[in-house]
Amino acid sequence: PPVSSSAAPSTAQSEALFERARKVTPGGVNSPVRAFRSVGGVPRFMASADGAYLTDADGTRYIDHIGSWGPMILGHNHPAIREAIVAAAQDGTSFGAPGWREVELAELVCQVTGAQKVRFVNSGTEATMSALRLARGFTGRKYTLKFRGNYHGHADALLVEAGSGLMTNAAELGAAAPSSAGVPDEYARLTLVSEYNDAGALDALMAERGHEIAAVIFEPVVGNAGVLLPTPAFLLALHRVREHGTLLIADEVMTGFRLSPSGATGRLGLTPDLSCWGKIIGGGLPVGAYGGRAEIMDYVSPEGPVYQAGTLSGNPLAMSAGLATLRALQADPGLYERLDTYTARLAEGLREAAQEAGVTVCINVIGSMLTVFFQAGPVKNYTEAARSDTAAFAVWFQGLLKRGVYWAPSQYESIFISGAHGETELQATLAAARDAFGEVR
Ligand code: PLP
Repeated sequence: PPVSSSAAPSTAQSEALFERARKVTPGGVNSPVRAFRSVGGVPRFMASADGAYLTDADGTRYIDHIGSWGPMILGHNHPAIREAIVAAAQDGTSFGAPGWREVELAELVCQVTGAQKVRFVNSGTEATMSALRLARGFTGRKYTLKFRGNYHGHADALLVEAGSGLMTNAAELGAAAPSSAGVPDEYARLTLVSEYNDAGALDALMAERGHEIAAVIFEPVVGNAGVLLPTPAFLLALHRVREHGTLLIADEVMTGFRLSPSGATGRLGLTPDLSCWGKIIGGGLPVGAYGGRAEIMDYVSPEGPVYQAGTLSGNPLAMSAGLATLRALQADPGLYERLDTYTARLAEGLREAAQEAGVTVCINVIGSMLTVFFQAGPVKNYTEAARSDTAAFAVWFQGLLKRGVYWAPSQYESIFISGAHGETELQATLAAARDAFGEVR
């Protein structure tokens, strides 16, 4: 069971590893939010993961609410996924030639999502980057449009007014476009930015510039500014971008296979031209994919003129983990409802606990994604999310952590619930959250 007292467990091993890591890796981590910069304290170096739990290098067990930032929808170390990876490894780890597993995973992704063709890559970043190039190649247009606070990975063209770690570090990096040093203004200028959930602003921008815009890329439900839900009016405005010959690209890297078998777009009744996936389709191994209408996808090399390739793309181990995950999801159609119910109860319990402690929060929740914003809300876009009390969030985060509850270490992220979370984890999390709210203020 998780630690239930408020006495902080030892972090000596994590501290020692962090000190070594900082000497050989920028910030001691391989992805920025892991460094705990906005919440303080030593990042926990993990030794193992099982079900709903992570165990750190000091042997402390945590109820995990990150799920590796989305992939682990079935929980960690799921036997079917582990066995599939072991079986694939016995056949060899990489062929540099096509194999049967990538055919089966492509068939399954197409069957479930409605895409006609799909191309596998190695990360969500590669998926969105490639989908944009494809949209430009297909339409012959130069510009793309994204929404403030949406994060689509770290390709140059998409590091413009981006969310996720960029939002966490906004004070350091400067919130203006581009979001990162090293992205030339000339590149950033090719990416137009509009406010999420502002249908009028999107319509106006499309009326003025639509004829030059190859694609509008968007998170159908945002996870990377914390959870933001699209309004019905905004969804209709997204549909209208097609009237300008502009392609609609749904970035389902986070939401694909998480909010429903057909992702957030399936759940919301939106039909994009192209979609991008990652996280769950790799079952915890590095996979991304983009796909959609065959007429567009056939612009990709070697069929068409848009170049895109990858030494490890379609890797048999990664494909086997994705296949095992999607098959397990298909075999358990009640899972999504159970995830929804668990997360709704978590949200309700957190609301009550915050209220009892006199802490003002606004909780955005959909399916198994949830963010506790430390503010009154409502929170519908980046600007509103950025009004949160990040200092209060940091106190609450530390309160959870020392009680054995591992939460996303930034105000501007979603948490992810898995099928391995049950009543024990729910009650233990709510008990820790109640005590941690008591430490805020
Ligand atoms: N798109 C979205 C919506 C994401 O949430 C992420 C990562 O969190 C990405 C793209 C980038 O994926 P990756 O980190 O696999 O490159």
